[in-house]
Amino acid sequence: MTQRRIAVVTGASSGIGRATARRLAADGFEVICAARRTDRIEALAQEIGGRALTCDVTKADDIAALAAAVGDRLDVLVANAGGAIGTETVATAKLEEWRTMYDTNVIGVAASIQTLLPALTKAHGVIITIGSVAGMVAYEGGAGYCGVKAAVHSLMMSLRLELFDQPVRVCEIDPGMVASDEFSLVRFHGDEQKAAAVYAGVEAPLTQEDIAETVAFVAAQPEHVNIDQLVVRPRAQAAAH
Ligand code: NDP
Repeated sequence: MTQRRIAVVTGASSGIGRATARRLAADGFEVICAARRTDRIEALAQEIGGRALTCDVTKADDIAALAAAVGDRLDVLVANAGGAIGTETVATAKLEEWRTMYDTNVIGVAASIQTLLPALTKAHGVIITIGSVAGMVAYEGGAGYCGVKAAVHSLMMSLRLELFDQPVRVCEIDPGMVASDEFSLVRFHGDEQKAAAVYAGVEAPLTQEDIAETVAFVAAQPEHVNIDQLVVRPRAQAAAH
């Protein structure tokens, strides 16, 4: 009997992560849903027949617990936990927020990969990170977020080299604007009006299900196919460039 494939999704309690957990479960994966909000991931795990693990990716103990929960084989890691906090300029930024943002988006991704790498290697698995087009462009008020996502991009380029001769694949998915559950509220400090004004400038933002679909596509590739990076843009935005 073939073993059920296992996937870990960090940041599975909302938005892209939750949609991805649902999508991978529909493809037959046993999904370990990791995030800080236990009630949400427990409900999700029950819904999709997966497992819930309370995990703050900035905490070493939680990262160790993640490795223990996975065991010795892991087919897919979706390092998705993260997001933007605030939209200030360099002149006005609260630097403590930037530290948290870096800790979550960059160190959190690196820590998740580091701890799960042996299990991913054993299963000939695939590492998928959710970066952003923000890591490749600049916009006013984006310095903090663009900076962390550029760091994720750089981390992934180095990781690809490090793992070149290893049986584990590495893919970076970089979405454009996604109308996800909560991202805008965190980004705009809960200011729904401000968030709505920015979203109004994008004719057709991507949905979280669009990104989940992209993750499922990468996860479904045969072992000899490596997709290094996928940039996923809303059509209207693509047409403008
Ligand atoms: P959400 O705010 O809906 O989701 C963010 C998720 O990250 C939540 O599940 C949250 O769960 C989790 N998270 C945050 N901090 C931590 C932490 N320290 N430890 C563990 N989990 C954490 O936003 P999105 O779904 O939109 O964002 C998901 C990813 O996609 C992010 O990396 C974001 O940067 C990226 N992205 C989003 C875009 C967009 O336009 N929405 C565009 C491009 C990329 P909890 O609070 O329960 O821990």
